[in-house]
Amino acid sequence: MKRQRNTKIVATLGPSSSDYDMIRQLHEAGADVFRLNMSHGSHDEIRERHRIIREIERDLDSTIGILADLQGPKLRVGVFANGEEELEEGAKFRLDLAEAEGDATRVTLPHPEIFQVLEVGANLLVNDGKIRLKVLDCGDDFADCEVIAGGTISNRKGVNVPDVVLPLAALSDKDRADLEFVCQLGVDWLALSFVQRPEDVTEARELAGGRASILSKIEKPAAVKSFDAILEVSDGIMVARGDLGVELPVQNVPPIQKKLIRQCREAAKPVIVATQMLESMIESPMPTRAEVSDVAAAIYEGTDAVMLSAESAAGQYPVEAVTTMDNVAQEVERDPNYTEIIEASRRVDRSTVADGIVAAAREIAETTSIQAICCFTDSGKTALLTSRERPRVPIIALTAQRGTARKLTLSWGVNCYMTGVLSRFKQAVVNAARAARSHGFATEQDQILVMAGVPFNVPGSTNILRVAPCEERLIFASDPE
Ligand code: PEP
Repeated sequence: MKRQRNTKIVATLGPSSSDYDMIRQLHEAGADVFRLNMSHGSHDEIRERHRIIREIERDLDSTIGILADLQGPKLRVGVFANGEEELEEGAKFRLDLAEAEGDATRVTLPHPEIFQVLEVGANLLVNDGKIRLKVLDCGDDFADCEVIAGGTISNRKGVNVPDVVLPLAALSDKDRADLEFVCQLGVDWLALSFVQRPEDVTEARELAGGRASILSKIEKPAAVKSFDAILEVSDGIMVARGDLGVELPVQNVPPIQKKLIRQCREAAKPVIVATQMLESMIESPMPTRAEVSDVAAAIYEGTDAVMLSAESAAGQYPVEAVTTMDNVAQEVERDPNYTEIIEASRRVDRSTVADGIVAAAREIAETTSIQAICCFTDSGKTALLTSRERPRVPIIALTAQRGTARKLTLSWGVNCYMTGVLSRFKQAVVNAARAARSHGFATEQDQILVMAGVPFNVPGSTNILRVAPCEERLIFASDPE
């Protein structure tokens, strides 16, 4: 599906978006990647959403990315008999290990290890810090708290304990089971929650065994401190602003977001800005001006993707939320200031032939009337390097690997299409010209740039840059074998 923007949109699926019609509408409205949140939903529900996405992909002959987000060692309350309760400031509320469904006086916190380390006076922050509880008394299986800041508490809301160092492993037993489940289903990205160290990422990578790319969610102060090392071992990053703004003072989040986006671009790895981007659209068909500015700011900063969480998973206006992001992205990208900012922030340490070729492609495309930069890519690396350049002309990536095409749905500006396995360069040029024409990027009168590695099917061998006509007769008349 050809988009009118380069920034990608990730939409989380949930109760508001679980049937074929709704998921298809979300994709048609602009969602490039669907996020399956393993913190919510049973394996049966996840399997069904996954099946529907792949069915839509087939029906529309489109490429859709699937990102499975592992819960990680995140603390969450259990469920309530009524689904949710209102906690009033000054009220008493108990967290315990009992299995009964919660009510207005108590709920399960199914993490025995936390009760071992809780202390009187500790603060517990629920639902991205909206509700604040202070521990008045605690034991091995309970914590009696006072509600310091009230609000609605609902099923499986997250709990942060910023004052206490928690003895938590990087992947819980649930994460390991979920990881195996989604890898067997076949997902493109695995997002790891509460990463603290690079070893957390390498552990997950070993378990995934090449079946999915690994995206680290940055939401802990420790991850911010070790970011260089975490980025090095990750395939992508999510600025998980919800927990980040609870674990750290909220005013620290914007500079961290800027720094992470910049570093990800330098490393040619996609980055997603997530959480509360259009929060009011959970209940309103119109976003606030501040939310629109927030989405726009992330795009001006050069993010690869912006993400919807509850807005698309549990809100009343999922399609409107995707449409809003799509409109904001198109408008920002039309702004000459955007182009200026993105180009001024290009900091690329070029050290390989492929780096030089993609940079040359961008410069040639921008100084002539070339309509698209086409690259043949097996692992996706050449497309990522091209994306990092943020060229003004569209990027068309062609691959014989379905997994590569799906993975690239997260990367800025990459339009990825399937192609057969190639053996000759002329065939590559013909395929690139056909893709550019058939997807509406160029006409027969136009020229495109074609990058490829010859011999084909050798990873990392990009070594040819060709200015090619789009008209087949001219390709056959002029191209080398
Ligand atoms: C976040 O905390 O911003 C986030 C994306 O994580 P989750 O929604 O999985 O808690």
